[in-house]
Amino acid sequence: MDDLVHPVTAEPALVDPFGRHVSYLRVSVTDRCDFRCTYCMAEHMTFLPKRDLLSLEELDRLCSAFVAKGVRKLRITGGEPLVRKNILWLFQQLSRHLGDRLDELTLTTNGSQLAKYARELKAAGVERINVSLDTLNPAKFKAITRWGDFAQVMAGIDAAEAAGLSVKLNAVALKGVNEDEIGDLLAFAHGRGFDLTLIETMPMGDIGEDRTDHYLPLSIVRARLMDRWTLEDIAFRTGGPARYVRVKETGGKIGFITPMTHNFCESCNRVRLTCTGTLYMCLGQDDAADLRMPLRASSDDAPLMDAIDEAIARKPKGHDFVIDRRTKQPAVARHMSVTGG
Ligand code: SAM
Ligand code: SF4
Repeated sequence: MDDLVHPVTAEPALVDPFGRHVSYLRVSVTDRCDFRCTYCMAEHMTFLPKRDLLSLEELDRLCSAFVAKGVRKLRITGGEPLVRKNILWLFQQLSRHLGDRLDELTLTTNGSQLAKYARELKAAGVERINVSLDTLNPAKFKAITRWGDFAQVMAGIDAAEAAGLSVKLNAVALKGVNEDEIGDLLAFAHGRGFDLTLIETMPMGDIGEDRTDHYLPLSIVRARLMDRWTLEDIAFRTGGPARYVRVKETGGKIGFITPMTHNFCESCNRVRLTCTGTLYMCLGQDDAADLRMPLRASSDDAPLMDAIDEAIARKPKGHDFVIDRRTKQPAVARHMSVTGG
């Protein structure tokens, strides 16, 4: 593709001041969730009033504007995306871009609603999904998610597999919670033919407790896994922040996302949109652009396209997640459920 304009839409392509092409948009379609994972939310969260949310039609229009500007991958996330009413409609609409300007339409979910939606998601053109699963122990699952039901998520994963969706599991590594289980999660995932990605806890949003208590560097996890498995470095990359290794004994892949111990910003190709139309150019920074105003100002897309260009011109070089150990304040005030990870 030409560096300056999209070949079909003739829209200026999204290239930030550091020469990074923005080709990936993550969209949080709701800040609400049917779980209350301890590292993500406080138990009693105040959610946005529904009137502040973009309608599904507006989300479709915004996502399509990004696609016209060269975004080739859309990930729908939340909160829990599948608890948003009529969410399937958005997948069905966005799928019109697949095979043309869009390479992939995908989803990150806690799995609770997959039994209900897996087949229709696949029919709407979704091929791969990420399911978050931090433990295989039902009691521990309840303790981590507070409101989640382990059997329901397992049934959801089964339904996804049966529908022909390719599943990747995401697990947050938590000191004193699931650190003794990571090897079992790996065996489970690879036994089912799923890749597994491990994530370090990030200091985002007040969760009513001290997150540093559960922070576990993945360098330690990796060293421990090597007692049981042979990890082979591979060049495989998805364009995302994960670094992958192959597990020799299983043939499966394991990814490590290490925002706290290793900065992965140099190759960052993504931006994040909230359900109110706020665009965050970096997961680890508070600077944001309001796209709802230009979206609603006119049925003509020109002001919106200009606002997107201006936002990308402000994409920062990188994040600097540090937990202030004295004040214990999160590095970023918003919760992960606002931008969806
Ligand atoms: N509800 C869906 C889910 O759980 O997959 C999608 C949204 S959730 C915010 C996306 C991912 O962010 C999940 O894999 C979750 O484990 C992860 N996450 C949430 N809070 C986090 C935090 N503070 N640090 C690291 N990962 C976090
Ligand atoms: Fe909900 Fe996902 Fe946050 Fe858990 S991690 S509370 S499932 S948004």
